[in-house]
Amino acid sequence: MRVRWQERFAETPGVLKDATHQHTVVPVLDFEVGGSDFVTMAGPCSVETESQLMTTAEAVRRSGARILRGGAFKPRSSPYAFQGLGLEGLKMLAHAREESGLAIVTEVMSEEDVPLVAEYADILQIGSRSMENYSLLEAAAHSGRPVLLKRGMMATVADLLRSAQCILDHGNPQVILCERGIRTFETAMRNTFDAAAIALLKQVSHLPVIADPSHASGHRDLVPALARIAVAAGADGLLVEVHPNPDKAWSDGEQSLDFAGFDEMMADLDPYLALRRMTQRERVQPRCEAVGAYFMEAVG
Ligand code: PEP
Ligand code: MN
Repeated sequence: MRVRWQERFAETPGVLKDATHQHTVVPVLDFEVGGSDFVTMAGPCSVETESQLMTTAEAVRRSGARILRGGAFKPRSSPYAFQGLGLEGLKMLAHAREESGLAIVTEVMSEEDVPLVAEYADILQIGSRSMENYSLLEAAAHSGRPVLLKRGMMATVADLLRSAQCILDHGNPQVILCERGIRTFETAMRNTFDAAAIALLKQVSHLPVIADPSHASGHRDLVPALARIAVAAGADGLLVEVHPNPDKAWSDGEQSLDFAGFDEMMADLDPYLALRRMTQRERVQPRCEAVGAYFMEAVG
């Protein structure tokens, strides 16, 4: 079966697992994405003010996030919506890193901005709307920074792998894939969360895969459930929107968690992450024994 999937995606051999390469681990500051730890990236959709960003950085760090997200260059669906603070926002992100110790992920929208964004960010985010902007992918690859590649909202898994392959072909193997929901006939939610794509990507590709339950659902009350699904599907981490006052957010407030909501989500993920750790050890410990051990631990 595995061989068939490899054939299905044979066009992008560089991103596929093979006998010698099963996992890519992306080092960020003093930790890794795609290693044994589940890594949560959290923060506002847009960087708005110094106090908004600093309080969010402190809150998400306390709840267990390792990476602060925040857009300084914003790809908005409306040309009249807030477009981001640009350089001023990048400087605030760098200051937040200094104060909190969190790594920074932020979006870069144009190839000309890559050197500037790479100066301030630990990871360059390529947004859904840019996934097929090949000159941007090339420039991001050449920056030498890890690249968080979001799946286009109308892109297939094969399209996503092609874009990842493009970054690898330009000499940068540090790519993190991100499932952020796709457009389907379902309109109740902002997008349709394709959890199966996470499972499939983890099966065929050696690259780390994370999930963005915020953009995938568009509704903050669905974010914790989608986060749990992402863990069960095999994701290596999450990208979550968090804001001190979501109803006042300059962008994506409806899908942003407040600090208490994020803290609760992280605490509720704990048992799922404990199971994940145990099933990761399944090569040396049979799966049902691992699950049994978890429940023994849970009931004391
Ligand atoms: C974002 O992360 O704020 C964003 C714009 O995401 P996407 O590119 O997935 O729409
Ligand atoms: Mn957003």
